[in-house]
Amino acid sequence: MESNKHTSPRSAFNGMPLVDGHSQGTAFIYRDILSREIEIRELDATEIAPEWERLRSALEQVGQDVTRMRNLLGAKIGERQAAIFDAYGSILTDDNLLRNLEEELHKRRLNAEKIVKNVMNEWEGRFRTSAGAAQKEWANDIHDMSMRILRALAGKENNVLADIPESTVLFTPRLLLSDTVHFVKRQPCAIVTQEGGPLSHAALLARSLQVPLITGVDFNAVRHNHGQEVVVDGSRGTVIFNPLEREKKACRELSNAYKRSTHIMLEHSAREAAVLHEHDYSVYANVSSADDIRNAVTYDCDGIGLFRTESLYMQYKSMPGEQEIYEQLYAALAPVKDKEITLRLADLGDDKVLPYLDIGAEHNSALGLRGIRFLLHFRDILKAQLSVFLRLAQHYKVSILIPMVTAPWDVGQTRSLCDELMREMRDDGVEITRKPPLGAMIETPAAVWGIEMLLPSVDFVSIGTNDLIQYMTAANRESLEVWEYYTYGAGLVLNALTPLIAQVKRTQKQCTICGELGGDYSYTNQLIQSGLKKFSVEPPLIPIIKERISRVIDTGESGNRKA
Ligand code: PEP
Ligand code: MG
Repeated sequence: MESNKHTSPRSAFNGMPLVDGHSQGTAFIYRDILSREIEIRELDATEIAPEWERLRSALEQVGQDVTRMRNLLGAKIGERQAAIFDAYGSILTDDNLLRNLEEELHKRRLNAEKIVKNVMNEWEGRFRTSAGAAQKEWANDIHDMSMRILRALAGKENNVLADIPESTVLFTPRLLLSDTVHFVKRQPCAIVTQEGGPLSHAALLARSLQVPLITGVDFNAVRHNHGQEVVVDGSRGTVIFNPLEREKKACRELSNAYKRSTHIMLEHSAREAAVLHEHDYSVYANVSSADDIRNAVTYDCDGIGLFRTESLYMQYKSMPGEQEIYEQLYAALAPVKDKEITLRLADLGDDKVLPYLDIGAEHNSALGLRGIRFLLHFRDILKAQLSVFLRLAQHYKVSILIPMVTAPWDVGQTRSLCDELMREMRDDGVEITRKPPLGAMIETPAAVWGIEMLLPSVDFVSIGTNDLIQYMTAANRESLEVWEYYTYGAGLVLNALTPLIAQVKRTQKQCTICGELGGDYSYTNQLIQSGLKKFSVEPPLIPIIKERISRVIDTGESGNRKA
């Protein structure tokens, strides 16, 4: 956080409007973990002991992560390879290093991050300039360790978002998924970022919270405006600090008008629900948390079409246990206990990072270990998730969705593991009466072209246009620079979806769209013409899509005219 102690005059900035709406609040400047520089902070005498404690607990956390990785590797590849991690462990407990860190902290009276950087850099340099190959290896290990410690220290700081004040307008270079999980107590009333396209996590979150979002605003230009009054116009993309009275009044009026129109839309869609069901259309919700589910119920969802469960893992400082996740999900799903619920296995990797799980830098992470590839690699995580979902399926109408399916073996291996777990659970005396349907996300071009090979082994499919367009156009979904390619791809992808939907329909298996394209009402008619009947969208979009579907049915645009 960076604050401005002086009162500043009115100033205005323009960005790209991503989510509509009008808000007035107080600016909160936040740097995400990836763009945070190492800050240098001087400590007074009373802060030294707590800072040493903070550093010690970060070291402890990294130690636990290393042990866990060692065990995972031991089980997966072999004891000999896993022993490499022992060297890592020994760095963290090296008496000389610990003494060196503690002494520096006392001597320099600087924050833990700066001390780690100074001390570890020096150790790394010493080993790197020595002659032996083994010493050079040590230098790499030390470098890796220092990054992990800095990450552990930063992870603890993320919690500033857990306690944001009422009416916060959040300014950040970018908003990571691991940041958004901290909005438990209170949510921002508007978000302004520098990076991130319409499909970034910030955009998905803003849409689901129904708060305005503007992107493309230079973070450096606003970073000194912490604590200032600000109005945000999400339809025009304008941000005004220290606004004039008339600007504040206009913002309040527009905000009230926006709320009224949403309310009218909701009432309308409730009247249309029967028509939709009569024609077998459903509009489910995309959710990531218990709050989202409650919100989805308010918007009268027909069920949960996509639960992005990876966000559950992001609230923790280290890998949560199976029972913890089970209890969280069991409580979160209660409001939709009589409805269909699709739980997606954690889609980790690439932009969805777990701060406490370092899988090593991948050269091109969007094309690397993502989704089911990640889970098949870290099988213990997959097993734990499947066990939780299987247990939940005995209480709720749960289906399991596999993210980032590319090839038939992604489904085959998941299904075998699922069957094996069910056998084990039965042997352990757990009552398993319901086997949940297993479905594939269709979000890679290979899954579209290879749908014929996938269909025999899945019970349903869900089309993820967010990633599908990204991989089809080779344009990063988070990047503003290549956004025009992405938009161009949105039109093109429909050509691929029409035959795909028809092919799935022939097998009588359910086909849902859960990518953002399904929530864009300008595509609803075309999707219906292609034969699609199941939509899963951000909760506030549910009434809008329902209304649009009922209009298509009414006017007979889809050929499904009411009798
Ligand atoms: C998608 O890719 O369309 C999708 C729904 O998944 P996510 O946005 O979580 O990657
Ligand atoms: Mg996806």
